[in-house]
Amino acid sequence: MLSILEPQNCCGCYACYSSCSKGCITMQSDREGFWYPQINQIECINCGHCEKVCPILHKEIVNNIPEAYAAYNKDENSRMKSSSGGIFTLLAENIIDHGGVVFGAEFNDKFQVCHSCAETKSEFEKFCGSKYVQSRIGETYKEAKTFLDDGRIVLFSGTPCQIGGLKSYIGKEYDNLFCQDIICHGVPSPKVWEKYLAYREGGSGTSVRRISFREKNESWKRYSVSFQFNDNTEYRVTFDKDLMMQGFLKNIYLRPSCYHCRFKGVNRQSDITLADFWGIENILPELFDDKGTSLIFLNSQKGQDLFQQINERMISCHVDIQKAVKNNTAAHQSVLQSSKRDAFFKDLDKLPFEVLMKKYCVDSTFVKMRHRIHRVLSKMKHMIVK
Ligand SMILES: Cc1cc2nc3c(=O)[nH]c(=O)nc-3n(C[C@H](O)[C@H](O)[C@H](O)COP(=O)(O)OP(=O)(O)OC[C@H]3O[C@@H](n4cnc5c(N)ncnc54)[C@H](O)[C@@H]3O)c2cc1C
Repeated sequence: MLSILEPQNCCGCYACYSSCSKGCITMQSDREGFWYPQINQIECINCGHCEKVCPILHKEIVNNIPEAYAAYNKDENSRMKSSSGGIFTLLAENIIDHGGVVFGAEFNDKFQVCHSCAETKSEFEKFCGSKYVQSRIGETYKEAKTFLDDGRIVLFSGTPCQIGGLKSYIGKEYDNLFCQDIICHGVPSPKVWEKYLAYREGGSGTSVRRISFREKNESWKRYSVSFQFNDNTEYRVTFDKDLMMQGFLKNIYLRPSCYHCRFKGVNRQSDITLADFWGIENILPELFDDKGTSLIFLNSQKGQDLFQQINERMISCHVDIQKAVKNNTAAHQSVLQSSKRDAFFKDLDKLPFEVLMKKYCVDSTFVKMRHRIHRVLSKMKHMIVK
């Protein structure tokens, strides 16, 4: 029977839950707000299937040689709705054009982040843009398998551990399955997110109608977080001033398994990996216009074929993969756990949200000043090099 002794050994992917033929596994949130499997010992028949499909206990070894590209979608509108170069939209459109279905992460009607399925182009727009919260897989692995068995083409998009979970759960190769993962910094706690949402709605006095973690019409590199409310007001600040983003980027409330991620590296289980091409202005300045450039890994023949089909709808250039990940450490190493993490979670239910976030996540005036000087110096350096 599956037994998780350390929270860092569970990525919350739902593979065990999805595989239990007796339905005796439920996914329950812990006090930090991350879900873990709970096994009903009375109903369990000890078949061991849940343990066999765990992508952490039985991680697939991958030895592919990926190709890397810098690219962006030629369609400006699609690109601006996306977090980096809008490549996910091109993949999803291609799959829908071939009669397939697309799975990804959306905000539900309560603005919780969860995976769901889309069968039309207007429907998959809900997946566009990064949501910096762990997405709940729910029933989507089972739904994807049903579509695959029916012969439909499936594109499943998720974090590397969610792709690992899906592949372990389905347990065999399907020619009609395309998996796309991301380079992942780590996933924040859904409980912290719910509190943040309540805090923003409380501050505005009305409910939220649209949220974007990556509003980039002013700048991709210095993107903004935006909440649009039902009274037509908007909260919008650059990421480094937003409370939730500050704690996220300081690694204060990521899932414990993210600090020990087993899915790092350039050899991946997915067919295609998408990421932000940080540092593109130095490597390929002609592909930088501060509207978002993607880094793409093509990890399999299926990934290469899919890329060829969308190639004419993007501006792209082949790059050396080692150069490409130089400015994207999340590609190959887990982030370090913040020394403030334990204290933060002890205070999570005790302190008012704003007090909590200011205590643990906001920089002191000295640190803010240091960052400002660093930004000015690197801008000057860039101008001199030009
Ligand atoms: C939690 C998280 C951490 C990330 N960390 C990094 C990083 O450190 N470095 C980096 O270069 N890139 C990172 N990314 C990826 C990057 O932000 C873009 O999502 C990626 O480059 C795809 O961009 P796009 O413009 O092609 O499409 P977009 O339209 O921006 O991509 C949307 C895709 O992301 C998926 N998605 C959105 N939110 C989630 C979620 N919570 N869980 C799972 N899938 C989700 C959607 O299903 C959709 O398929 C991260 C993304 C997420 C969600």
